[in-house]
Amino acid sequence: MNKDLKSIAEKAEANWADNWNFRSFLQHEIDPVVIDETVQELNRTVSAAIDCTVCANCCRELQPHLEEKDVWRVASALNLSVMQTKKRHLVKDPDRSYRFSTKPCPLLSGTKCSIYQARPTDCSEYPHLNKADFLGGSIGVIENYRVCPIVFNVYEQLKTKFHYDHAVDYIGDSDPEAFTGSYWKKR
Ligand code: SF4
Ligand code: SF4
Repeated sequence: MNKDLKSIAEKAEANWADNWNFRSFLQHEIDPVVIDETVQELNRTVSAAIDCTVCANCCRELQPHLEEKDVWRVASALNLSVMQTKKRHLVKDPDRSYRFSTKPCPLLSGTKCSIYQARPTDCSEYPHLNKADFLGGSIGVIENYRVCPIVFNVYEQLKTKFHYDHAVDYIGDSDPEAFTGSYWKKR
């Protein structure tokens, strides 16, 4: 299992087009229910093998969103008022309430979250692989493949599990007859 962040970033760049091709393969060839079941099974084994407390790459590379209830919880953990918390650490987000104002997250201490028990839901649920509708969120998955070793390894293992053929162009093929869910039907 690859846990090396530098190697993962390099492979993300090299595999960018292939990752989109694989997404198209999944859309056209695999039953979405089977995808969700398989992703969740892989997520359990990969997550168990990776220690987030020595990684923290998501805390360095992303800016999680906070709903109002998250802001109150974070403020309480920091012993600040809600207004002070917003002013010091957050920016208003046009769509989704707030996000942390800086990268890395201002609440990251080394590779540990300084308010772990009170961290926002967006942080505790990251990388969101245990949710239904993997395909619906798969654009985000391709972005997160670069950042998160869990996502990277799950996505790579998914390619192997479904016998994905890197040589076939699933995006460029305009013939709808070519996409018949053949893998699913063959099983
Ligand atoms: S609040 Fe904690 S878990 Fe969330 S990004 Fe900041 S350091 Fe990471
Ligand atoms: S969720 Fe992913 S990026 Fe974040 S700490 Fe865990 S392995 Fe690293």
